[in-house]
Amino acid sequence: MARPFTLLIKPAGPDCNIACRYCFYACKTEFFGRQAHRMSDEVQEHLVKSYLECRFEQSSFAFQGGEPTLMGLDFYKRLVELQKQYGEPGQVVTNALQTNGILLDDQWGKFLAEYKFLTGISMDGPKDYHEYYRKDRAGNGTFDRVMAGIEACRRNNAEYNILVLLNNINVQHPDELFDFFTGLGVQYLQFVPCVERAQDDPTKAALYSITPEAYGHFMSRIFDRWLDYGVRNLSVRLFDSLLSYLMGGPHTECTFCRRCADYIVIEHNGDAFCCDFYVTGDTRMGNIMGAPIEQLAGSEIKRNFNRKKMDIDNKCLVCRHLDVCRGGCPKDRAMLTRTHKAPSYFCEGYKIFFDHALPRLRAIAQKIQQGNI
Ligand code: SF4
Ligand code: SF4
Repeated sequence: MARPFTLLIKPAGPDCNIACRYCFYACKTEFFGRQAHRMSDEVQEHLVKSYLECRFEQSSFAFQGGEPTLMGLDFYKRLVELQKQYGEPGQVVTNALQTNGILLDDQWGKFLAEYKFLTGISMDGPKDYHEYYRKDRAGNGTFDRVMAGIEACRRNNAEYNILVLLNNINVQHPDELFDFFTGLGVQYLQFVPCVERAQDDPTKAALYSITPEAYGHFMSRIFDRWLDYGVRNLSVRLFDSLLSYLMGGPHTECTFCRRCADYIVIEHNGDAFCCDFYVTGDTRMGNIMGAPIEQLAGSEIKRNFNRKKMDIDNKCLVCRHLDVCRGGCPKDRAMLTRTHKAPSYFCEGYKIFFDHALPRLRAIAQKIQQGNI
C-alpha cells in the first residue's frame, strides 16, 4: 500500500473575491491563465474516487485557495455525496475549509456544522489591523463581512478556528490580538508569520513582512498570555505542535518536521504539486486525470522534494534547537538566500521564542503525560 498522504485542494485555483495585499497565491493567475478557474464535476468525482480507493486509515480533504467558497455550496454538497458513494463503511474521512469567511451565511453554517468541517477563517485582528491589508478590489475593508461570516458559524454551531497572518502592522500588538480573539470566544488560533520577497529587490523582504525578531517577541508574549489564560482554554497551533513533539509524537506543523509533509496540492484542473508554496513547473507531478493519484504522491519529484528539507545548514547542525526546529521550512530558508540549505529567515525569531518558552513547554508536556493537566 502507498504511504498515506492528505490532500490540499484548490477548487477555484487562485481566484478570490477580495484582494489582500500580501497574498502569495494571486500571482498563480499568470501560471494557470487569466480565465476563471473552477474544478469541473469530472475532476471532482475522479479526485474523490481515486483518493478514497487508496483506503487509507484516514482520508483528509482540505480546501483552500484563492477562495474555495467561490465554488458555491452545491460543490461541497456534491463532495459529501461522492465521499459516501466511494468510501467504504467505517472509512474515516475528514473535511477542512480555509476561507476568508465573506460568503459564509446560515446555509453554509448549517452545512459546515452538519458535516463537521474543520473551518478556518482568516482574520488579522481588530478592525483597524484586519483591514490594513485585507481589502476588496474596490479598496473597501472586509472586517464587517468576515464578522458576519463568523456569526453565521456561531449561530449554527459550526466550529471554526482563526488563522492570523502576522504582518508588519499586527505583529506589534500581541496583547490586543490576544484580547480580541479570546473576547470573541475563539478556542483555536493559528499565527502564520508573513515573509515574501520585495518586488523591486528580491534580496529584501517585502514591506508587509515581519522581521524574525518581531516574530520571536510576538510569540513569546502570546505564550505568556496563553499560560495565564489557561492552557486548556485555548489551542495555539505552534504550541500544540511543540507539545506533541515534546511528548514523543510528531510535530503537527510541517515547518519543524524532519521531512516535508506527506500532502499533495491538487489544483482546480487536477494538476498535482508538492506543496502550497511550491506550485511551480518544477514541482508539478502530473495530473490526476492522467495518472493514479497514489503514483503522483509517491513520485520521484515528491520524494526528492520531501528529502530536501533534510539538507541542513551547518549553522543549524550545531544549533541548540536543532531537535525541535530542524531548520524550519525550505520556503523560508530560501526566501532571501535562494537556497534551501540555509537557516530559516525566521531563525533569530525561533531562537528568541524557543529560549523563552521551551523550558516551560517541557514542564507542561511532562504534566500532561503524568495526567496533571
Ligand atoms: S516546503 Fe514548508 S510548507 Fe511545504 S511541506 Fe515543506 S515544510 Fe511544509
Ligand atoms: S533556530 Fe535557526 S539555527 Fe537553529 S535549527 Fe532553527 S533555523 Fe537552524
